[in-house]
Amino acid sequence: MSEPLAPGATIGIIGGGQLGRMLAMAAARLGYHTVVLEPQPDCPAAQLASRQIVAAYDDPDALDALAKSAAVVTYEFENVPVEAASRLASLVPVFPPPRALETSQDRVAEKTFLNAHGISTASFRVVDNDGDIAAALDAFGGSGVLKTRRFGYDGKGQRVIRRGEAGDFRGAFAAMGNVPLILEELVPFECEISVIAARGRDGSVAAYEPARNVHHEGILRSSTVPAGIPERIADAARRAAFRLLEALDYVGIIGVEFFVTAKGEVLANEFAPRVHNSGHWTEAACVVSQFEQHIRAIAGLPLGNPARHSDCVMENLIGDEVDRVPGLLREPNLFLHLYGKAETRPGRKMGHFTRLRATPLRAPGEGR
Ligand code: AMP
Repeated sequence: MSEPLAPGATIGIIGGGQLGRMLAMAAARLGYHTVVLEPQPDCPAAQLASRQIVAAYDDPDALDALAKSAAVVTYEFENVPVEAASRLASLVPVFPPPRALETSQDRVAEKTFLNAHGISTASFRVVDNDGDIAAALDAFGGSGVLKTRRFGYDGKGQRVIRRGEAGDFRGAFAAMGNVPLILEELVPFECEISVIAARGRDGSVAAYEPARNVHHEGILRSSTVPAGIPERIADAARRAAFRLLEALDYVGIIGVEFFVTAKGEVLANEFAPRVHNSGHWTEAACVVSQFEQHIRAIAGLPLGNPARHSDCVMENLIGDEVDRVPGLLREPNLFLHLYGKAETRPGRKMGHFTRLRATPLRAPGEGR
C-alpha cells in the first residue's frame, strides 16, 4: 500500500452537490485541498473547495487537468460516466474503484452482483417490453415495482404496478420512456434500514450503526438511530455491507439500503458507492463523520471510530421546508446543515438537521 496522503495534498472530487461540499469540508479539516469538477458554476461544493474546474464530467481536457492537480480522485454521485472514471484511473488513484460505480449504475447488474456474493435482494426480472412485464407480474403474484435500470434516483424513474387495476400495465414500457427496465417484487417491508460502512486502503473495515429510514415518494425524509431493530438484523445488514466491500475491493464509504420484512429477512435494495444521505446523522452523533471517514479511507489514513455518542434523528429539509430554519435554530441539541443552494425548488434537498436525543448538553457553569 502506498504512503498516506500528506497534509497539503489535493483531493479531486467529481460532482459539486451537497455531498461534495461536505467532503470538501471534511478534507479541509484534515489539512487537504480539494478541486471539484462540476459544470455548474458556484455549485454547493465549489463554495467550500479550494478550486473548481467548470466543465462536463466527461470532458477529456478537464479530466486530464483534474488528474494533474489531484493526488487521488473521488466522486459524490453514482452517475459519473464510467469511461470518465476509468480514464482518470489510468492517471491517478480513483476511489471508490470504477467497478463499484459501474455495478451500481445498472439495477440488474447491481442485484446480480449482490446475489452472486450471497446477499439477498427482492426477486427481479429484466423488462424490455410490455410482454416481459406481464410475465414478471405473473411470477410475482400480480404486483411489482417497475424501475428504469439506469439513472434512477430519489424515486424518479419508478412506479408500482398491479395487474388488472385501472391504469393497468399495458403501455407502461412506453410510459417509462422505452428504456431498459427491471420489475422487482413488491417487498412488504416492516422498515427500511441502511448501513454506512467504510473500507480503508489497507483493507480494514468499519461500519456505523444501521439507521431506520423513512422515505416519501422515493425521497429520504428521516433517519433514526438507534433503528429499533433486533441485533440479529443489524448484524446481518452489517455483514452484508462488509461482504460487499470485500467483493468490490472497495476503498471509501459505501451506503447500503435494506428492506426488513416481518419474517426477519434482510434484503438489500441498492448500494451507493459514495457518502449517503442516510449517513448525515454521523456528523452530529459520532466523533468521526461519514465524510471524514471517506476522506480518511481514500487518503490511506487509519479509519476512525464509528461509535455513536448520542441517539439521534436526522431530517431532510426539502423545498420550502427550509423556511423552518429560524425556528429550528432555537432548539437545543440541534445540528443544522444548509447546502448553500441559491434557489429553492420543490423536491430539492436544501439542507438537513439532526436532533440529538442524548442527555441534554449542559451549558458551561450549569450544575451537574
Ligand atoms: P430506490 O430508488 O430503489 O431506492 O427506491 C426508493 C424507495 O421506493 C425505497 O426506499 C422504498 O421505499 C421503495 N421501494 C423501492 N423498491 C421497492 C420494492 N421492490 N418493494 C417495496 N418498496 C420499494
